[in-house]
Amino acid sequence: MNIILIGPPGAGKGTQAGILVEERGMVQLSTGDMLREAKTSGTEMGNKVADVMARGELVTDEIVIGLIREKLEAGGTGFIFDGFPRTLPQADALEQLLADMGQKLDAVVELKVEDEILVERVVNRATEAQAAGKPVRADDNADAMKTRLLAYYKQTSPLIGYYYAKGLHDYVDGMADIADVKAEIAAALDD
Ligand code: AMP
Repeated sequence: MNIILIGPPGAGKGTQAGILVEERGMVQLSTGDMLREAKTSGTEMGNKVADVMARGELVTDEIVIGLIREKLEAGGTGFIFDGFPRTLPQADALEQLLADMGQKLDAVVELKVEDEILVERVVNRATEAQAAGKPVRADDNADAMKTRLLAYYKQTSPLIGYYYAKGLHDYVDGMADIADVKAEIAAALDD
């Protein structure tokens, strides 16, 4: 089964993807993580995208589709796409890449969270990381968060209607406790 977790920044996609990896042996493909790794290891691409990411804007479709293509070409199944696709061209590219592997998408689960709570969560994530001496994401601040939310509503949220029309969309209350969100996602996947 291949699924997408979709939702605005701070909705809990990464947390829930981590649980699905632990409990179901699925494979998490987070383009955000891949881009941050490229940045940390100082690759040319990583340096190129660092400013765009820090501002909270989207990097080009070409770059993220390339990252996903590389992972999918290594083979496998049971993918959780986390933070990808974020635009309609990315969604089309994903469909094609999966079709080339003889696979398809089985579900797109939206995590719904109110905007005010998202901003609070992201700002808290930065404060907590700082207090614990952990690295703080360059885009976990109120300014970048505004840009990230705008990017979500302008470029990514149309995907929800797109996947609804394809009969793949489901949603869960992303404001519930982590365990309850997990149970709702399980119900959506196993029905
Ligand atoms: P995330 O960790 O998913 O919140 O992603 C962090 C940042 O990486 C985003 O704000 C974008 O700058 C970039 N990014 C991650 N995934 C994508 C994507 N699918 N398309 C474009 N930009 C992306």
